[in-house]
Amino acid sequence: MSNCIVGIDLGGTNLKAGIVDTDGKILHRLSIKTNSNADPQIISNQILELIAEAVQGAQIKESDVTGIGLGSPGLVDKTGETILFSPNLPRWRNIPIKRIVSERFSKPCVLENDANAAAWGEKWVGAGKAVKSLVMLTLGTGVGGGIVIDDKLWRGANNVAAEIGHMVIQTDGPPCKCGNRGCVEVYSSATGMVRRFKELLGSGASSSLKGSAEITAKMINEAAIQGDKVSLDVIEETGRYLGIAILNIMHVLNPEMVVLAGGMIGSGKLLMDPIRRVTTERAFEASYQDTKIVFSQLGNDAGIIGAAGCLLRALEISA
Ligand SMILES: [Zn+2]
Repeated sequence: MSNCIVGIDLGGTNLKAGIVDTDGKILHRLSIKTNSNADPQIISNQILELIAEAVQGAQIKESDVTGIGLGSPGLVDKTGETILFSPNLPRWRNIPIKRIVSERFSKPCVLENDANAAAWGEKWVGAGKAVKSLVMLTLGTGVGGGIVIDDKLWRGANNVAAEIGHMVIQTDGPPCKCGNRGCVEVYSSATGMVRRFKELLGSGASSSLKGSAEITAKMINEAAIQGDKVSLDVIEETGRYLGIAILNIMHVLNPEMVVLAGGMIGSGKLLMDPIRRVTTERAFEASYQDTKIVFSQLGNDAGIIGAAGCLLRALEISA
């Protein structure tokens, strides 16, 4: 089968690869754990090996591959060649991963921020297929963002737009990994939710999770479903902070759609209700009334599909 694209989604937890066709369907996929503290050379080699394995696993030839789309966390430099810095892969600095991959496979290659890639995936074949403008928030260990305006990814003057997770919503809030304070990510990431949960337990709140050796966002969600009051309160508060972030986005961009993705959307209605409440109570009616707030349709595949779609876009094939 010709005209296949390899989509790579490099995350702080998993490194995923998929063989994607020109309609955005994944034909074959595989995933390995990322050692986020490993030497960048090791991670680069893993990416090269995973691409080769994905091609083999899909039973296609390298000559069937049109190109490779790479989605990576962190800031991509202005030329789209290098990852400058990634908070979740601390040693991953100034790595020319696009050149490394395109030289090894002699194929066209694009490098895109992972949340931008995921936003493009949703726009191409997911929740945002029918709209021209959308903003995506990926809610996981951190909070990523991607912006599509008039059917194009908005990358900004320096290729570093859409850092929605680092929009400041509390001037004197807790410190963020980025060096600033009070960022959306501090309140609305899985890490932020666990931190606030632990603070409440520390101040004497009673919860079914009290005494657990480790607390994760998933555990808080499960406890909330069982009716645990502190867990319900923390998810509600997370939703309210997200609602503030989203109403700011609505006021600035007035997008047709806001797509929420990432592990935390497992909280479903518990997270969505406070988001909708805050935006309808506090945003201008004209700003929110035609903006749909929805969950991702592609789930964990958005990054792979979107990275492939970005390659097609760059080659002006389709997508
Ligand atoms: Zn920050």
